[in-house]
Amino acid sequence: MIQPFDDTYFMKKALQEAEMAFEKGEIPVGAVIVIDNKVIARGHNLTEMLTDVTAHAEMQAVTAASNFLGGKYLKDCTLYVTLEPCQMCAGALYWSQISKIVYGARDLERGCINLNTKLHPKTTIQGGVLETEASELLKRFFIQKRNLN
Ligand SMILES: [Zn+2]
Repeated sequence: MIQPFDDTYFMKKALQEAEMAFEKGEIPVGAVIVIDNKVIARGHNLTEMLTDVTAHAEMQAVTAASNFLGGKYLKDCTLYVTLEPCQMCAGALYWSQISKIVYGARDLERGCINLNTKLHPKTTIQGGVLETEASELLKRFFIQKRNLN
């Protein structure tokens, strides 16, 4: 069967990035940026390893995508991220003028939606793609962390 290039396909790639974060003991959030059905950037949370609160998956993916495209604006690009972006990432995405954001799980506490963080007028946002997988991974991480302490 030919794998269609749909939201689920690309969110699976973001989940693979989140798994990599998990393996490193980082809060498992992953992201990819796609243009013309091609992944041009990947990132996963590295805040512990880099001791840098800005090292969220989306921030790294945005930087990598801009490097790849040789321009700061992510026109016609879609970000797939396993967790709803926080205020900082939503802010960076605002500046990037990215066309679309697709997230997996909601983050009711720190996510940009409940905190009313403004997205760029050119940006559309959609959630709930592989939501269960994304939140299960986060739950598994926090349960494991609690058991280690
Ligand atoms: Zn963030």
